Amino acid sequence: MFCTSTSISNILINVFYESRENIIRSLNRSVLVTHLHVTITLIYSFDLYVSNMVYMLNANNQTVSSTATLPVGGQHPKIFVFDFDCTLTYSHWYSFIHNYDNWTTQFLPQNPSQKPKPEQTIVNNLRKVSTYLLKFIAHNSRASAQTLKSKIARLRNTPIYGAVLTYIMGGTQRRNVINTFIETLVKNGHEVAIASRGYQKDIVVFLALMRIKGISKINAQHDCVYENNVPIARKYTNKEDLIKNLLMSQSKYTTVCYIDDDPTEHNKLLTMLNEKELTRYKYYGAKEGSNTIVIDLETNGSGLTKEVIDTILEDNNIENLTNKAML
Ligand SMILES: [Mg+2]
Repeated sequence: MFCTSTSISNILINVFYESRENIIRSLNRSVLVTHLHVTITLIYSFDLYVSNMVYMLNANNQTVSSTATLPVGGQHPKIFVFDFDCTLTYSHWYSFIHNYDNWTTQFLPQNPSQKPKPEQTIVNNLRKVSTYLLKFIAHNSRASAQTLKSKIARLRNTPIYGAVLTYIMGGTQRRNVINTFIETLVKNGHEVAIASRGYQKDIVVFLALMRIKGISKINAQHDCVYENNVPIARKYTNKEDLIKNLLMSQSKYTTVCYIDDDPTEHNKLLTMLNEKELTRYKYYGAKEGSNTIVIDLETNGSGLTKEVIDTILEDNNIENLTNKAML
């Protein structure tokens, strides 16, 4: 009996996660908030270490391919269309970048008993992160893919990465579970798309920063330029039109699965789709209704959870590999 490098690394990952959880458990929410800068540094250090280790392991073992392959039997693919903010993300990336004050009101704890100074420390620290990222995205809006890639790689070695991983993605474990979920869908021959009312460039930077792979299409406000770090939007295809197009009779997809914390576009689609299109359309959301599979995904809540992902995979008869990402 001997230990492989993978099993040693898994043991190390467990030890580090356990330590990380112990730190978080030992701090109640107000202490966590009061000493945010210390907490971020601690969580960031663990997350960065584990993230790099998992990435290296995946790179070495190449256990999951991000290349779409048709499953045995040549079954035609489904397409899974995910909303971005508060569905794939844990909190609202668009607001963090473009409407920071709304983000703090909605997503940071609002405890009146807290002293103003520590609260202000959080706000100031995270505002610096969001301001930096907004400039980074705007200034790189015309950068080549290679330039952007190398700049994002450098960004990953800064506390900015730790703050985004913790506050917008919900931590390393959630990021790994979602990554494995997407890769599992792709490995089973399906396609994964993002549909958002936000800006494509913001989403591209976020996905690259979080190392989320396997997305074949991003439908968002794509043709935008930045003026004084503010995006000036042009035209784009809205979510309901995108999904209707995916359901057209010549479409190669057998089913369009739409996952969104906000049911607005789903409700519009129910009035737009004909009977035949409705048989190939399925919405995953919080409230019971026509063509809906009920999942725990509240509007502007904390996005996809492991339980929600389990339900989606089970509903589509897809082998669930996400338990491995919980290590
Ligand atoms: Mg959303």
